[in-house]
Amino acid sequence: TLPAVAFVGLGNMGGPMSARLVGAGYTVTGFDPVPDARAALADAGGRTAESAADAVRGAEVVVLMLPSSAVVEAVLGDPALLDALGEGATVVDMSSSDPMSTRRLATGLAARGVTLVDAPVSGGVKGAENGQLTIMAGGAEDAVERLSPLLAVMGTARRAGEVGAGHALKAVNNLLSATHLLATAEGVLAGERFGLDPAVMVELINSSSGRSGSTDNKFPNFVLPGTYDSGFGLRLMVKDMRIAVGLARELGVASPLADRAVALWEDALAALPDTADHTEIARWTFAASAD
Ligand code: NAD
Repeated sequence: TLPAVAFVGLGNMGGPMSARLVGAGYTVTGFDPVPDARAALADAGGRTAESAADAVRGAEVVVLMLPSSAVVEAVLGDPALLDALGEGATVVDMSSSDPMSTRRLATGLAARGVTLVDAPVSGGVKGAENGQLTIMAGGAEDAVERLSPLLAVMGTARRAGEVGAGHALKAVNNLLSATHLLATAEGVLAGERFGLDPAVMVELINSSSGRSGSTDNKFPNFVLPGTYDSGFGLRLMVKDMRIAVGLARELGVASPLADRAVALWEDALAALPDTADHTEIARWTFAASAD
């Protein structure tokens, strides 16, 4: 029999991820403070709760898909939720969280007989809808193994190491992704000024050594068509970059290129509306050169 699942955080990613679990036959009880997000899960056939504490009562697996470690800490620090969380439950934090925070939370939960596994994802909203996420898991081998059927509904999971390893890997991945996107914007802009067609540039780079997720996905799908609607917020990307450079600093690793990239992304964050999509970094780069 499938484990009872609680799903906390039903946003751009958590919405389609929880719906897939329902589709695979899991009993999912979801919570999100946004009523529309709860209504979407109910429409997909899931159950909804009025609080995270109510959602986790009786759940064997609690999936979190929340904006940041600050929110994860608030949810997991709520005494009502901790009371409702059964001993032997497994919490799976699929958010892109701070690995140092994750390690601390894991220690605290272990003292209550609760296992924490981190399982952040890459692949965007489309990957969440199609069940084609890459899932970077961190935690004890047996705990990750027990979760593998559930994770397989959402994507392809691979264990990266002990608890926190997934979150560390995800932060580094997004630092690279963000740096590539900014570099691609600068490069394509220079080529365009020279007289190149951006679509031709991106296509040829995609069979050359400069290719990346920015040239094979973000530019063709969100930047060049001018839609800037990937479903991943610029604020969230900056959060991820800060985690990565914070980790480097804490570990004594110099990261001058990353520091510069974060500073530019932070300028864009300050200049753009709070709801801006992360692909807007390209439009912002183009606009800065137009002045
Ligand atoms: P989102 O803002 O769309 O969704 C987050 C949801 O959490 C919102 O619906 C919000 O109402 C809810 N929430 C906030 N506080 C809450 C609380 N206390 N209890 C319950 N729910 C609460 O963000 P998203 O794009 O779904 O991203 C979620 C996480 O996944 C982030 O860590 C992000 O960095 C990561 N991520 C996003 C993408 C993407 O393409 N969007 C891809 C990979 C990873």
